[in-house]
Amino acid sequence: MGKSEGGARRERMEEKAERPAGREAMARERVLGGAGSAAGSAAGSGGAVGSRFSGTDEESRRRDAALRPKWLREVIGQRKVAERLAVAVAAAKKLGEPLGHILFDGPPGLGKTTFATVLPNELGTSIQMTSGPALSKPADLLPFLTNLEEGAILFIDEIHRLPRVVEEFLYPAMEDYRIDIVLGEGVHARTITMRLKRFTLIGATTRSGLLSGPMRDRFKMHEHLEFYSVEELAQIIRVNAAKLHTPITPEAAEELARRSRGTPRIANARLYWARSYAAARHEGVITADIARAALDMAEVDPEGLDKNDRRYLETLIELFGGGPTGVEALAATLNLAADTLADEIEPYLLREQYIIRSPRGRIATPRAWRALGKLPPATPSSPPSSPPPSASPPTLFDPS
Ligand code: ADP
Repeated sequence: MGKSEGGARRERMEEKAERPAGREAMARERVLGGAGSAAGSAAGSGGAVGSRFSGTDEESRRRDAALRPKWLREVIGQRKVAERLAVAVAAAKKLGEPLGHILFDGPPGLGKTTFATVLPNELGTSIQMTSGPALSKPADLLPFLTNLEEGAILFIDEIHRLPRVVEEFLYPAMEDYRIDIVLGEGVHARTITMRLKRFTLIGATTRSGLLSGPMRDRFKMHEHLEFYSVEELAQIIRVNAAKLHTPITPEAAEELARRSRGTPRIANARLYWARSYAAARHEGVITADIARAALDMAEVDPEGLDKNDRRYLETLIELFGGGPTGVEALAATLNLAADTLADEIEPYLLREQYIIRSPRGRIATPRAWRALGKLPPATPSSPPSSPPPSASPPTLFDPS
């Protein structure tokens, strides 16, 4: 993405054709700098991850953009988060104040960018998008900050990857809507202060733990996104199938949902794949049988684990005897970045209790052994020799 390097070069995205006029006007989405990574970062931090979403970053990004809800009422699931945001939006509108800065955190593909892009529509304002890795120095941030109109939104994806100097440059902008620019060097250096329009910073991170304390404290709202239930994902799949003019049975939507790792972005990828499969091999309708056959062909197993998940579990179990094993050793063996494991693969395996994290490293649970068709080893907590409580030796007081 040559055009998305740095912050200086800029590109105005065509305004969406369906944008209604007036107060309800769809927010102008001016995409600057690392905007691409904002939408598609989740699919991007490792070669193997592309295959998880069964496509390239570019494809995944296109899918995301085409299917992303535009209004809060279209967002499915995450009800508590959506309700709090609706309150914040209503308050901002009534009080005539910009929305407070918001931090979204959670694994990739759960809707951080979706929430960020829905909010300007609700507020009738514009959004500029960039990402932590695209901002290597304070100057990269300048065009974003100076272009912001009153009440507009600046979205920084992967905000935990902002270099410290850029982060510190942001503090006064977040607190007082001003930036301090140092001109010259050494004894001749002088600082000029520039006032900014009142704006809202929305940060997204898969690792809120890596964010510095001062940065975290400057966000007024901190929203954690959770994995979705099968019902919620099935609803997302049905809605998106309709957007793609693809007929799908409710059973098929549920089958795809059950095998989507609790993640809307993966549900979208599964839907696209099942749609292609149905079009190529059948009449285009996605039935439960077609959904199953499509996912089997994509090597997504009945529990929804994909190739990367199984490689991870196979390595942990077959090579490391089920652990405990450090994430670095696992990553080196799998030839993936440790970050990719921690951000993309492990959160779901942890949530579904295929693995547990201990101070000494990752441990495969009996569920993981069984998922690979293996017998779990006897655990130390239930040694086969320990007699069940009912079989304790008789005492003098037991009835004979
Ligand atoms: P993140 O920024 O957390 O990586 P995104 O917001 O890009 O995730 O979500 C990926 C895609 O998943 C979106 O384009 C959208 O189609 C879908 N999606 C995510 N969250 C929701 C939701 N709550 N309701 C409906 N679709 C969603």
